[in-house]
Amino acid sequence: MKRLPTPAFNDTGALTAISGDTTLDSHPVLHNHLAAFQAAYTNYALHHGDPNQITAIPQTAGIKDALIGHYSSPPTGPLKIYIDSVRNDLSPDVCPMCGSFNTYNIDHFFPKDGYPEYSFFSLNLVPACRCNRKGRGLYNHGTRARALHPYFDNGLTVRLVRMSINGPNFRVPALGLEPCTADPAILPNLNFHLDKVIYKRAVQSFLIKNWRKMRTRPRKIIQTLPRAFAGDAVALTGYLNDALDLMDDKYETPNNWDSMFLAGILARQDVLAWLAHDFTELTLGNRLLTD
Ligand SMILES: [Zn+2]
Repeated sequence: MKRLPTPAFNDTGALTAISGDTTLDSHPVLHNHLAAFQAAYTNYALHHGDPNQITAIPQTAGIKDALIGHYSSPPTGPLKIYIDSVRNDLSPDVCPMCGSFNTYNIDHFFPKDGYPEYSFFSLNLVPACRCNRKGRGLYNHGTRARALHPYFDNGLTVRLVRMSINGPNFRVPALGLEPCTADPAILPNLNFHLDKVIYKRAVQSFLIKNWRKMRTRPRKIIQTLPRAFAGDAVALTGYLNDALDLMDDKYETPNNWDSMFLAGILARQDVLAWLAHDFTELTLGNRLLTD
């Protein structure tokens, strides 16, 4: 999860060029409806990509396939260069949709199947990992809760999510994600995003793997921890806060999976005390906190 700078791509220019290309399958339908498509782009920007306020344009099967095709195989030119840059350069180290560390896909915030008019619209193209799966949620028509949009939701710049830790046995706890804000301006959408966008199986296996690694090789996960640690929860909190700052800075968002993991521990005094004791035992047993 990451707030990205709003793209400055000239969508109208690309759309006009494509609609005027008589060699493409979308011609002349796209050309004949150019004004409607431009209005759809304007509407998207005006409503900040809020699905509650944006209605899909009904499309015939032929034009729908042609529009999606312009995304999959864009004509050589600025649009192709832009789509390649979204995939490779825009956020190469963290997924703006879920906070994982892969972005080998492009997510259509409004799915291209239901909203083909936004198939190659810059504000709708977000680099993403495998959370970009078919059927991920967009919004709830009844509650109006919606997915968080990386180009519009400024709330993404603050810490929104942390790991949840459920005992009773901290050796093998049940791990998940939970909101760490009570801000009513973002909480309903955040809960929707946690439930319908983030790929739970992937994040849970990441958290479990990290937890195991932290218990045997703590410095792999908490890189600021000294090799010999003997201290209490207060001492451990200091090292964890330093590690959290590093991860927030490294990924330029507090809502990456490493930061979620560390923030979850920091929120729990009982877990901090238990881990401080555990790490002290490792040190005293000469099982040094090696890299
Ligand atoms: Zn993702």
